Amino acid sequence: MAPVFDYAPAPESRSVVDIAPSYGLFIDGEFTDAAGGKVFKTVSPATEEVLSEVAEASEEDVDRAVRAARKAFEKWSALPGSERAKYLFRIARIIQERSRELAVLETLDNGKPIRETRDADLPLVAAHFFYYAGWADKLEHAGYGADPKPLGVAGQVIPWNFPLLMLAWKIAPALATGNTVVLKPAETTPLSALFFADICRQAGLPKGVVNIVTGDGRAGAALVAHPDVNKVAFTGSTAVGKKIARTVAGTRKKLTLELGGKGANIVFDDAPIDQAVEGIVNGIFFNQGQVCCAGSRLLVQESIHDELLDSLKRRLSTLRLGDPLDKNTDIGAINSAEQLARISALAEQGEAEGAERWSPACELPENGFWFAPTLFTNVTQAHTIARDEIFGPVLSVLTFRTPDEAVAKANNTPYGLSAGIWTEKGSRILAVANKLRAGVIWSNTFNKFDPTSPFGGYKESGFGREGGRHGLEAYLDV
Ligand code: NAD
Repeated sequence: MAPVFDYAPAPESRSVVDIAPSYGLFIDGEFTDAAGGKVFKTVSPATEEVLSEVAEASEEDVDRAVRAARKAFEKWSALPGSERAKYLFRIARIIQERSRELAVLETLDNGKPIRETRDADLPLVAAHFFYYAGWADKLEHAGYGADPKPLGVAGQVIPWNFPLLMLAWKIAPALATGNTVVLKPAETTPLSALFFADICRQAGLPKGVVNIVTGDGRAGAALVAHPDVNKVAFTGSTAVGKKIARTVAGTRKKLTLELGGKGANIVFDDAPIDQAVEGIVNGIFFNQGQVCCAGSRLLVQESIHDELLDSLKRRLSTLRLGDPLDKNTDIGAINSAEQLARISALAEQGEAEGAERWSPACELPENGFWFAPTLFTNVTQAHTIARDEIFGPVLSVLTFRTPDEAVAKANNTPYGLSAGIWTEKGSRILAVANKLRAGVIWSNTFNKFDPTSPFGGYKESGFGREGGRHGLEAYLDV
């Protein structure tokens, strides 16, 4: 039998990525200009240098993309799962082959350290495609009945904090289950999604199965409201998530929302302090704290507060902030001027409300968007910085005396996405975890991700689960 794919290995992975001066929308397998000819610029947050000009999709373009996805759906959904799996495996392999280019591109457009894109984001992106490729021909064993059906066209809107990883979380399960996709990346980080579009071409993915429409919230709103979209998947702020829920209400569209968080990292007095310090740093300074499941509230048992804070401050003084392309950099740039302004305003409010602010001595580069790692002590639950999601490298430190008090404080938030528990006692881990209202709970570690684990929130952090077997349900009529 002839091979399904004309498999030609990609040129050797390069550490330097070629960025074109302009990019079009990816609709029906082709890159095209926006109908109105509008474009917007995407800049490097570390230098403010313009990286490229990108087409800005209008309502008409979104409609064109949805129609392409609808047309492709008939054939794509009729393929045997094993055939869809071949495309997904091939995409996964090309991502691995081109991961150095993608890591550099993502770091340039997002501002995050290359060590993170190279060692965390890209391996996870490939892993998601491999994982869901494995499900494509086993859907009848997923526990949703003998003959689960795809929904149709999925409209997916993603944020800028993990541009490619959020794309993988959305596109891999959608394609594995036989849906077709129109995805809108965030306006500050469109480039890796367009690179991914090129990978779809390279993989020979049939035209129209994946469409990428770049633009701002207006393009996202048009996609979500489009009458021929069957499934809406959104990751982003709680405010926009609520708007989308209102748009979708009363339609037959299936909806999943992954929204904000205010994760508590709870450290008990028997925790291994050095390990906890590493976990706290990873919990809040990974990706400059621009992580929905960040451990942005440290709840420390009163008896070890001073010792832990001393160690934490010593550790923060060793973090290197600067050029995200330098592999020794720990803290990169904030993604945009707007995000930097939001973080700065909340930190100032923290001070104004009486919390004590501390940052290690560090020099911020002149150009670009930068914020030093910051700790707030003497924080009470009434403080804005203990309640609102900051989405930046800012840790609010609170104390507790008993496990019950820790649980009560951890749950005292409108969010419910993540939490961490640090203790040597296994029984305490289980007892506390059972009482926490958070979708993901780590113990003696933080910010660990795996494609086999479902991820999602309680309360205002959203609903539905992505990842794992649970992630299939969002894309199936079960
Ligand atoms: P955002 O909600 O402003 O934007 C997210 C995406 O939605 C972007 O692509 C944007 O263009 C689009 N958008 C904006 N308005 C829209 C509208 N009316 N209709 C449809 N789409 C619209 O959020 P952001 O500033 O890009 O991201 C930061 C937020 O995202 C944080 O609050 C963070 O907690 C949250 N987040 C959550 C998760 C999660 O998994 N729960 C993951 C990452 C980020």
